[in-house]
Amino acid sequence: MIETCRALDIILDNTAVLEGERVSLIESFKRVLAENVVSRDDLPPFDKCCMDGYALKSSHTVDGLSKFKITGSIKAGDFWNEEIKAGEAVKIMTGAAVPPGADAVIQVEKVKTEGDELQVFENVHTGNNILKAGEEIEKGSIVFKSGKFLRPSEIGMLASLGYNEIICHKLPKIVLIITGDELINIDEKITRGKIRNCNEYLLVTLIKNLNACVKSYGIIKDDKDKIFDAVKSAFEEGDIVISSGGVSVGDYDFIEEVIEKIGADIKFNSVKVKPGKPVTFATFKDKLFFGLPGNPLAVMNTFEMFVAPAIKKMMGRRDVVTEQFPVILKDNFKSKGDRDNCIYVNIKKQDGKYYAYNMGSQSSNALFTLTRCNGVVIMKKGIKTAKAGEVLNGKFIFK
Ligand code: AMP
Ligand code: MG
Repeated sequence: MIETCRALDIILDNTAVLEGERVSLIESFKRVLAENVVSRDDLPPFDKCCMDGYALKSSHTVDGLSKFKITGSIKAGDFWNEEIKAGEAVKIMTGAAVPPGADAVIQVEKVKTEGDELQVFENVHTGNNILKAGEEIEKGSIVFKSGKFLRPSEIGMLASLGYNEIICHKLPKIVLIITGDELINIDEKITRGKIRNCNEYLLVTLIKNLNACVKSYGIIKDDKDKIFDAVKSAFEEGDIVISSGGVSVGDYDFIEEVIEKIGADIKFNSVKVKPGKPVTFATFKDKLFFGLPGNPLAVMNTFEMFVAPAIKKMMGRRDVVTEQFPVILKDNFKSKGDRDNCIYVNIKKQDGKYYAYNMGSQSSNALFTLTRCNGVVIMKKGIKTAKAGEVLNGKFIFK
């Protein structure tokens, strides 16, 4: 049995970042850039008006009343060719190109007009309400470096720069194998001894939440040959294979035996963590295998601790490990002290500090508890009691 941090190191040492591929801008959402992005244009591409108002020469305004002749109107998208002369002003809309000769815009709310006469009552400063060409980004400058995670803001920026395709790291393809003779599909009626397969849905959505690709083989019976065939073909089509169930010491727990028979290299088969001790990690060529336990809370916990960092690393993310922070306990918690105990809690922020509330049973099948939780606090190995008011490290889940 190995320590949790050692297990994570082994996993990340065996995980390679996937190569880049060209994808459409929309497909690049929640993915990681595999190239530096250079601006192809100045942004804005022209001196741009940022208020509805009048474009004029600021040197012709005074501390008091000054008058101009309105010679026209420019709407967004149009371009005015004539040079503005002294004493002239042009009405201009937000987003329009400032006409040549004008160096400022005064807002429509601040002036009066009488026919084609504009009355200005203040000294307007040069540059007022104008965004200069290239002020936001200059042509040729690096906008994003390789490794940038693309959120809606980055996608919008890339659209402004004219990138309709971009090179991103490939997304790992993950194949799921759900084992257990007791399992029935969710649309089936429960009969004696059977339970519904929730792990498949838990895992599919955990993976989709990270924007990786997932395919499930569905329920596979606790049968060595059937599991062998499933794992073998999963290794052919996936970058990562995840199984649920069958990793303990029961008579029908065949995962480890099958993995060995296939020729995978088992790196560890149990970790000092609760829930989720019998988690198995193996490599097969450049593929990864995670044998997760069957209990839903253990599935969730081992996925978050061990699988999610591998998925994130493969897709090029730099933030592979979820950030931990100090959390003040609002309730008392217990642990056996033999393993790092992840206690699922609700974390609330009050006056700049984080507080953890007990949400009920931590038994590893207590998925209902999880539905009331947004995070975990970690009672490190050796700690048996943690009292209200004490501080533990915690983190949010589904990040
Ligand atoms: P195992 O690791 O196969 O011994 O399973 C441990 C526990 O998790 C047993 O109580 C199983 O019934 C339960 N379990 C296993 N697989 C699933 C699943 N896909 N959905 C819900 N519960 C499961
Ligand atoms: Mg089982």
